[in-house]
Amino acid sequence: MLSAKSRPIIEATLPVIAERINDITPDFYRRMFAARPDLMDGMFSRSSQLEGTQPKALAGSIAVFASYILANPDSYPDEVLSRVAHKHASLGLREEEYPTVYKYLFEAIAANLGDILTPEIAEAWTEVYWLMADALIKLEKGLYASQANEVMFAPFRLLERKETGENVIDFTFEAANAVAMTDAVAGQYVSIVTKAKDGLRQARQFTLLPSQKNQRRVAIKLDTAGEMTPILHELAVGDIVEVSNPYGDVTLGAFGDDATKPLYLFSAGIGVTPMIAFLSELATSGSEREVVVVHADRSTATWPLREEMASYVEKLKNARLISFLETAGEGDYEGRVDISKLEVPANASAYLCGPLPFMQGVRSQLVEAGVPGQQIQYEIFGPDQWMLHDQARA
Ligand code: FAD
Repeated sequence: MLSAKSRPIIEATLPVIAERINDITPDFYRRMFAARPDLMDGMFSRSSQLEGTQPKALAGSIAVFASYILANPDSYPDEVLSRVAHKHASLGLREEEYPTVYKYLFEAIAANLGDILTPEIAEAWTEVYWLMADALIKLEKGLYASQANEVMFAPFRLLERKETGENVIDFTFEAANAVAMTDAVAGQYVSIVTKAKDGLRQARQFTLLPSQKNQRRVAIKLDTAGEMTPILHELAVGDIVEVSNPYGDVTLGAFGDDATKPLYLFSAGIGVTPMIAFLSELATSGSEREVVVVHADRSTATWPLREEMASYVEKLKNARLISFLETAGEGDYEGRVDISKLEVPANASAYLCGPLPFMQGVRSQLVEAGVPGQQIQYEIFGPDQWMLHDQARA
């Protein structure tokens, strides 16, 4: 809990910090990577730095954390912290790095605020930083302890690659050593680390698809403007990559999901991957839950893993698949997802995955249709800038 001494100082300075943090964080990262270039190797995404999304996500989380604890002195923003902790754990972030982040973040704050930063203000924000860091460290330790092994990454060999949809490859890797593997929960992801063109190791996250026990299977969409997917798409059978343990909290039954209520799964493009994992889990357990799967794509040909998705829906007693495809005559409906065609009940649980505008559009329509925001989960395939700024959730 924030101390009585720091509380009024944080209240008074939050507006200025929130306003300036988007300038502070790029400077913080510049300072940190200048002193610790090793952190860019395998941990931080170089593209997210260049694009500015990771700095914004970090900036958002500190400001959101501060405003949350001001408004709710007896609790923490659990959902945001959990999302961040899972991502950190998938990158193998260790407790020892938190003082490093503190050092360079506060150097950047001091440089930006100049004379405004009195020792009292610095002390109060130091307290906020460590409240957040300690909460994350605790969560991350729990996540590491729940794994079947003590390693952050293990080598996996590419066993099979198959094209699916447009520019998507379905990769199956098998364990290349005897390290015990943690069973993944449907909806979880792994970080896959490979070398970029200049030899720097870079991690990217990919949702796990159903696979055999000693395997990790993922479907990777090529991002032609991206750094790592063009390299991953070149992988040949027999090649070795490093794979993290499974992490991620967007799973069935998590947060607002009540397993007795109808389940609506909305995906677009490569956002199909968590839905395939959910459907497989439901089919394996013989679930009789009412499930409505809604997929949006350009056409049946661009839709990744379409047949697999349809086969799980067929296996489930109470599931149906509805498609919104841009190509006329190919789907159940033509064009963008329109909730009014689906009659979603207000007690439904919804999971969303796809491009951000798709998820924002579907979420707004669901909320308008009476589905409370806390019953809507989503996975963002990049640094999460949405949850942090999502006033509706707050
Ligand atoms: P990056 O190098 O990360 O680039 C991404 C974008 O950043 C580019 O399109 C470009 O616009 C911009 N960019 C890149 N370099 C620069 C630069 N120098 N300057 C400015 N901007 C730049 N993907 C899947 O395909 N399948 C999945 O199942 C999947 N699951 C995911 C699950 C989670 C939890 C998360 C967080 C992500 C998931 N992703 C998934 C996304 C995946 O991790 C990658 O982000 C994505 O594939 C792009 O990787 P990349 O290295 O090719 O692109």
